[in-house]
Amino acid sequence: MTAISADEGATVQHDLGSGVQPSRDAKAIRRSLAEMAPVADEATSYFYALLFTYGPHLRDMFPAAMDAQRDRIFGALLSAAETIDEPEKLTSYLRDLGRGHRKYGVRADQYPLVGEALMYALERYAPRSWGPETEAAWVRVYTLMSQTMIDAADEDESVAPPWWDAEIVSHERRTHDVAVVTVRPDQPYPYRAGQYASLETPWWPRVWRSYSFASMPRSDGLLSFHVKSVPAGWVSRSLVHRARPGDVLRLGAPAGSMTLDHASDRGLLCMGGSTGIAPIKALVEDVAERGQRRQVEVFFGANRDNELYDLQSFLDLERRHPWLAVRPVVAERSTLGMAGQLPEAVRELGPWREFDGYLSGPPQMIRKGVDALVSSGIPADRIRHDFVGSLVRVTEGPASPTR
Ligand SMILES: Cc1cc2nc3c(=O)[nH]c(=O)nc-3n(C[C@H](O)[C@H](O)[C@H](O)COP(=O)(O)OP(=O)(O)OC[C@H]3O[C@@H](n4cnc5c(N)ncnc54)[C@H](O)[C@@H]3O)c2cc1C
Repeated sequence: MTAISADEGATVQHDLGSGVQPSRDAKAIRRSLAEMAPVADEATSYFYALLFTYGPHLRDMFPAAMDAQRDRIFGALLSAAETIDEPEKLTSYLRDLGRGHRKYGVRADQYPLVGEALMYALERYAPRSWGPETEAAWVRVYTLMSQTMIDAADEDESVAPPWWDAEIVSHERRTHDVAVVTVRPDQPYPYRAGQYASLETPWWPRVWRSYSFASMPRSDGLLSFHVKSVPAGWVSRSLVHRARPGDVLRLGAPAGSMTLDHASDRGLLCMGGSTGIAPIKALVEDVAERGQRRQVEVFFGANRDNELYDLQSFLDLERRHPWLAVRPVVAERSTLGMAGQLPEAVRELGPWREFDGYLSGPPQMIRKGVDALVSSGIPADRIRHDFVGSLVRVTEGPASPTR
């Protein structure tokens, strides 16, 4: 097994487009990921067992109960490795991860331990595709990935705290399972419309989940999140059913690349499913603020009419802005909008060749939505959404998340 050193990547350009051999490395990496996919659970357990044996001190960075959590680092690393052919996207994702790792106190010298555990897990659970060439490809890719994370964390150190304390100043229940939670961070919190933060509640220490900002940056510095309580969800249920004004949350660094390209004057085709509508609202406000008058089409998807919890505020925006069209799409019979599935509705009203695509919502909606946008004429490189891992469920921890 080739050793991975923390500074190995320092000699290469910190751009994932250089150093790795995209197509060959990508092929080798995808082969081992595909072989490991059916035994991902066992591989994950093995990875963590090794990691905590090599570095017992690392255990403290993780929640006490690891069951629902344990795929976090591993899943994020694998998902990231899957996208090595898309260096720009991958670099931005890894830089967000690296900055986010500061809140756990992750140090540069701990990355090699993670790399070793990753390689051993791959060797054991993808034996047929393992060999010197595949191993060399993984070493190259992991070295670049970890160096990208380390560099981003270093750069962030002088400009931002590892986390922000944020007091809940209002808690508004919109439906039986959706709440709008507004917080006041203890220091200015810079972010862009369309991004998200990872968030820790006082009730689940070291359990971090991502939530999108539901508005563009406000002059009063407050931040709002739309949270849907999922069955047996640790953080979401606490935020919806337990949190009250005065409770203090922790926020990690802002992340995500679903932001506006202000150099473009193309229209925006936005799809928001459930609370995925929150960052779309922030984007609409951002367009309005710039006064660019780009055409904006918002498709707001839900299962039932009463789940369109923020429709009224979108209709108010639509009344104020002639460039905005809002189209509710409801899976069951609807009195408020189109009946059916969001991706089909978007396809039906296309083509959307002259638009940029923005999607936010459950991973399955994003995958189907991307297909719908591509088949409606939007090139893949003009479609933005939060990172969606494909091999294993990726939640957040010292690594990252799925909606
Ligand atoms: C970039 C990003 C932005 C996000 N923004 C938002 C947001 O603005 N608002 C929001 O409400 N959520 C958002 N999410 C999802 C959020 O991060 C959590 O995953 C979600 O709140 C569940 O966390 P939990 O701790 O309550 O559940 P967990 O403890 O992680 O999961 C408990 C159980 O619920 C299942 N589960 C997880 N998610 C869902 C789901 N959506 N539906 C049904 N079952 C589920 C799990 O598989 C598990 O069995 C976002 C996710 C990402 C990646």
